[in-house]
Amino acid sequence: MEKKYRPETLCVQEGWTPKKGEPRVLPIYQSTTFKYDNSEQMARLFDLEDTGYFYTRLQNPTNDAVAAKIAALEGGVAGMLTSSGQAANFYAVFNICESGDHFVCSTAIYGGTYNLFSVTMKKLGIEMTFVDQNASEEEIQKAFRPNTKCLFGETISNPGCEVLDIEKFARIAHRNGVPLIVDNTFATPINCRPFEWGADIVTHSTTKYMDGHATAVGGAIVDSGNFDWEANAEKFPGLTTPDASYHGLTYSKSFGKMAYITKATAQMMRDLGSIQAPMNAFLLNLGLETLHLRVKRHCENAQRIAEWLSQNDKVAWVNYSGLPENPYHALARKYMPGGSCGVIAFGLKGSREEAIRFMDSLKLICIVTHVADARSCVLHPASHTHRQLSDEQLREAGVAPDLIRLSVGIENVEDLIADIEQALG
Ligand code: PLP
Repeated sequence: MEKKYRPETLCVQEGWTPKKGEPRVLPIYQSTTFKYDNSEQMARLFDLEDTGYFYTRLQNPTNDAVAAKIAALEGGVAGMLTSSGQAANFYAVFNICESGDHFVCSTAIYGGTYNLFSVTMKKLGIEMTFVDQNASEEEIQKAFRPNTKCLFGETISNPGCEVLDIEKFARIAHRNGVPLIVDNTFATPINCRPFEWGADIVTHSTTKYMDGHATAVGGAIVDSGNFDWEANAEKFPGLTTPDASYHGLTYSKSFGKMAYITKATAQMMRDLGSIQAPMNAFLLNLGLETLHLRVKRHCENAQRIAEWLSQNDKVAWVNYSGLPENPYHALARKYMPGGSCGVIAFGLKGSREEAIRFMDSLKLICIVTHVADARSCVLHPASHTHRQLSDEQLREAGVAPDLIRLSVGIENVEDLIADIEQALG
């Protein structure tokens, strides 16, 4: 779309603009391959001299339309879809880190990302240092080394619901000549656009609010196009020196602002192949069409429930940034004035067993390993998603052992409160 539209319009219309006689609804290009008239045309694609589709492991028109919608919502230059949020975070870092490199990451991140970064990427020779995102700039600075290649954090952490000071993180990253990568899954671009606060790359588990119906696992990476790779050329040889696997092409020279995302597509996706299935991209697009409506309702419901929980004498603590007494309230108002997300972290008075009994007593709100879809759900991270972490690691990740993660859906809020009330009883 040429005109600059507002987020609600982008959600519904961006990405797929049919021409005369083409389908109004984004079609599923359910094809692994694409036809050309002669071998010269195909050869130019392989040399990245022409753009076009040739094999769905690298790119597919359905995926690209959806990636373009997400990129527009985030205000980036381009995006790509991945098979999962895990793949998005892996590619986002691996695209600029290689064996012998190092990166810095907030401890307040999703458990799957925690494992990926601290265990699996270590096996690839990439080291990572965790930092407390609430520490001072001086303290966080100490984690940086000459071979540090990026800084990583989540806008709102899963499951601790800590809000990231994006401007502070961007300042630290840029002072060290590296990009800031922000996982914006929980806030979504409806509530926060990290590029406006200095982030350089945004990732998503589209499995969550973007799909919103719990139908398709997926991920996305969006490039702001703002990071100057050439100015820090010695740190990023993968982008600023010739790529032998593309006949000596240099991404920063050939693609400028699109260097990072082009490399992620042309090299990472070609070699690692975690592409999102076009069918899943189609489902994701349906979800995106109503993202602006759903996110608003998730936030309204969560605000009511957080207020209700904080008044209840069986509840020990509630962490929801929409509550004025919350330590993240000021950050949330700054970065997400329209609302944060539908996820609430809280603890009950009493033992761990009481928390489990409460969850088992819920009728409408289900225990599932998920967050951020239309149906309300609940999880005890210490027993489920984060059970591989020690109590100390749990606390470092902002996950109290008694933390219950409630993902508030878009049902009638009185019905949800009634369910919580009877389960507390
Ligand atoms: N990032 C965040 C903030 C998440 O909450 C999750 C999953 O819960 C992921 C990444 C991983 O995404 P996926 O499950 O789509 O691989």
